[in-house]
Amino acid sequence: MICALCGGKLKEGKTEFIFRVKEEIVVIKNVPALICERCGESYVTPDVSKRIDKIMESYHEGKCTVKRISACEISL
Ligand SMILES: [Zn+2]
Repeated sequence: MICALCGGKLKEGKTEFIFRVKEEIVVIKNVPALICERCGESYVTPDVSKRIDKIMESYHEGKCTVKRISACEISL
């Protein structure tokens, strides 16, 4: 498989997804993905993206075990 953006090679690896929910930042880490060796774009399978949706659902329902990390916001 090759990258749709730059044509680089894709390699199996892990990535992170970052969502913003109102005033909170949610990071989902250890997401298995294919990552472009050249530009770093990551591609997840439909199965993985379903799992991410499920996690976000349970996050909204307050059912997730979360680790609190700090975030900050700066305007340019
Ligand atoms: Zn690429």
